[in-house]
Amino acid sequence: MRLIRTACCIALTLPLFAHSAPAHVHGVAKMDLAVDGNKLTLSMEMPLDNLVGFEHLPKTDKQKAALAEAMASLKNAADLFVPTVAAGCKVDTVDVGDPFPGGKAKADGHADVDADYVFRCAQPAALKGLETKLFKRFGRLHRVDVQRATAAGQGAATLTPEQPGMNW
Ligand SMILES: [Zn+2]
Repeated sequence: MRLIRTACCIALTLPLFAHSAPAHVHGVAKMDLAVDGNKLTLSMEMPLDNLVGFEHLPKTDKQKAALAEAMASLKNAADLFVPTVAAGCKVDTVDVGDPFPGGKAKADGHADVDADYVFRCAQPAALKGLETKLFKRFGRLHRVDVQRATAAGQGAATLTPEQPGMNW
């Protein structure tokens, strides 16, 4: 009897959960930060809402312009991230993903932007922290949850408009 009940409830609960669980949380972005030798890699995952205030395909000229501007801003890595100045890090590669691959919106109505940044640092031993200016550029972004892997070990950090930087 207990087994049957369990089977029943899992079957009822799972589709409900899959449907109601948000694909992401608006206002929150994720960042994976890794330091490997002289290479600093930042992998960001952001709800498009954080950047432009909508997640559907842009319809009006204003929305198209807002999206193009946001994508252009995301490509300016040097304006968005400030690694420890003494480390002499320079932008190497930037890869900003299309929130609408193939020109199509997702069925669940949400859209994400993935952006990967690689910096090369002249003095990697001096690299001890990172500050972001993402909050200044994107007012709808309230938090960046960071997972870090550096020579100092693994760690987590939460960046906010009041605390946009971290050290390790
Ligand atoms: Zn969304």
